[in-house]
Amino acid sequence: MRTILAAAVALLAVQALHAQNALEVLHIRGPIYFIAGAGANITASVGPDGVLLVDTGTDQMSARVIAALDDLRRATVPREAAPAFGNLSKSRLEPERATPPPPKPLRFIINTHPDIAHMGGNAKLAATGKTITGGNVAGDLGDAGDTSALYAHENVMLRMARGGNGESGAMLPTDTYFTPYLKFSHYFNGEGIQINHMPNAYTDGDSMVWFRGSDVIVAGDVFSTTGYPPIDVARGGGVDGVIEALNDILDIAFPEFRLEGGTMIVPGHGAISDSADVAYYRDMVTKIRDRVQASMKKGLTLQQIQASRPTRDYDPRYAGGSVQPEQFVESIYRSLTQQPRGRS
Ligand SMILES: [Zn+2]
Repeated sequence: MRTILAAAVALLAVQALHAQNALEVLHIRGPIYFIAGAGANITASVGPDGVLLVDTGTDQMSARVIAALDDLRRATVPREAAPAFGNLSKSRLEPERATPPPPKPLRFIINTHPDIAHMGGNAKLAATGKTITGGNVAGDLGDAGDTSALYAHENVMLRMARGGNGESGAMLPTDTYFTPYLKFSHYFNGEGIQINHMPNAYTDGDSMVWFRGSDVIVAGDVFSTTGYPPIDVARGGGVDGVIEALNDILDIAFPEFRLEGGTMIVPGHGAISDSADVAYYRDMVTKIRDRVQASMKKGLTLQQIQASRPTRDYDPRYAGGSVQPEQFVESIYRSLTQQPRGRS
């Protein structure tokens, strides 16, 4: 009896451990997949051109992310090229002899901002860009670089190069942009991909990634379904920039008429969302900003404003995130006492 009990307890422990470390992989639309459970959310484009990732999760989860991507690449690789003209009989008679092309590797990584939960997996994942697991790599080595290309806004690179922001040890970007947006030079997995800079939002180096054919937007940490947004004034962030970033997302997103759907938006943390969810979040941030601002105009101190709990009505939904209500209020207070920032 005791052994059975011990075995049952051990099994439960294993299951709990498994559940704790398991990744959740969901198909969003077209070649776009959502990977949750590796720290921050990861978004992947997987298809005939290879793999592109937006954010990479934590270093500790990299092996699991690599395994999940291997599964996706194998599952999505075309079994066989479309039969050439006049070649139908061959493909009908010998389908099992046709060797599928090997899945292509991880080609690009885009980081939405420099946080270790979002970029901790950069180095290990980028290293897989060199070879193709389980396939015949000989034909591909000639045109493959040593690692995947790593894209981020220039300010991410500058802050990482200076160090001291908790990103040390993470791989530096190989490609940066300093313009309001960066368009990939050609289609990847059948669609255009655009990276938009969101100035002075969480930090001064935030990017959103827009998959223009699949109509999916990866928001980064300006949007979450589980917590208040982090705003790092010391790294160039500000509450007005967060609101502007959420408005920018809403500018390019389409709702589905009277239904959930339309443009799909991936938050930095939490569940896949639509534009109504982003609008709700934008309204929440705006209302709390306005309350803090009104209290400041009355001459209240930060402590008095925190004590008045301007987040009270939203705390049941968002206080469980990584940003505590008092921290959120303080970051709003600090952004409003800074010199005006923004894009104007
Ligand atoms: Zn985050």
